[in-house]
Amino acid sequence: MNNLPEPEVLVKHYELTAEAWQKAIGAMLGSHTVYAPVKRWGSMDYEPITVEKIRSIVYNEPKPVSPLKLFLLPVKENVVLEPDIVRPLVVIGTPACDLWALDLLDKFYLNSDLIDPYYKLRREKLILIGTDCHSSLEHCHCTSYGINPVPEKNQDILISVIDGKVLLEVHTEKGERLLESIKGVAEFQAAGNSLPETLLQKRREVKSAIDKANKQLPNYQETTSAVKNAGEEIWEKYAKTCVSCGACATICPTCTCFLLIDRPGFEKVKQMDACQYPGFQRVAGGEDPHRQHHIRFSNRYFCKYVFRPEKFDALACTGCGRCIEACIGRINKNELFIEITR
Ligand code: SF4
Ligand code: SF4
Ligand code: SF4
Repeated sequence: MNNLPEPEVLVKHYELTAEAWQKAIGAMLGSHTVYAPVKRWGSMDYEPITVEKIRSIVYNEPKPVSPLKLFLLPVKENVVLEPDIVRPLVVIGTPACDLWALDLLDKFYLNSDLIDPYYKLRREKLILIGTDCHSSLEHCHCTSYGINPVPEKNQDILISVIDGKVLLEVHTEKGERLLESIKGVAEFQAAGNSLPETLLQKRREVKSAIDKANKQLPNYQETTSAVKNAGEEIWEKYAKTCVSCGACATICPTCTCFLLIDRPGFEKVKQMDACQYPGFQRVAGGEDPHRQHHIRFSNRYFCKYVFRPEKFDALACTGCGRCIEACIGRINKNELFIEITR
């Protein structure tokens, strides 16, 4: 059970011009911190938005470099101090894969047996403006795991920019309150439920391109049973180029593991951890069930496709493809899965 109130189902549609939406973001900046994707040096990532940057925001492009979880789980923080989180945070441009990842993060960090107060506070202050992807990247494989690249859950508002118009679909009271607080500065026209054919066509094309690019990839259930039945030799083969850097876990929107480290001066540091680091499972006395590299390597796949889905009833891989792009050892988990299901 997580402790977030169930959002009321509320879908309202608005349409406005690009200029009106830019004014609306300007108004948001008075009372909210706003992050949105901006392109720089050939890649796209979330940046803090200032008045000068509003026009540089990129809409409807597939995943920013950073996963959404970095707004909720800083890489390191001192958990003895009161969290210094005052202003609500609006994140614009989150794709469907990262919004799905919130299911697992909420079940893990807001579990009624053990709530993480830092996560809870950040989550309550977070207002999500999700976006549908109007293109995909080489390693996007959301649809293989049943995720439509049009957000269907966990967003407060969905934004699509098409034919020079900004379309907003409001899903929660939180999203509606955000728009209410800025409506005075720009004209928000109530729109009907029917979406323009150009948008629907774009969405169909993107879904079919991702399906086509991943037609050999097994689905989630097939992957679960293939991972359970794989022999050690496959893990040994793929672990050969793994340098245990942990980038795959750091960049993954669903990886949740952390360490607590005591430091002098009454400092307790919560630091994100990764099962690929040597010593991840080492205990007092020096025992380590994952001492062998290939066993540690296989843990990531057992965690994503076997343990987490069983324990939390949520997807632990959303098919974003970031771990493939970030891997310094050029390990492509999808090639591994195709090989073990052949
Ligand atoms: S994996 Fe799917 S939802 Fe995620 S960025 Fe790529 S196309 Fe969009
Ligand atoms: S990113 Fe690649 S090299 Fe680094 S720990 Fe993960 S699998 Fe190993
Ligand atoms: S395991 Fe890889 S593809 Fe799956 S959610 Fe994590 S980073 Fe994305």
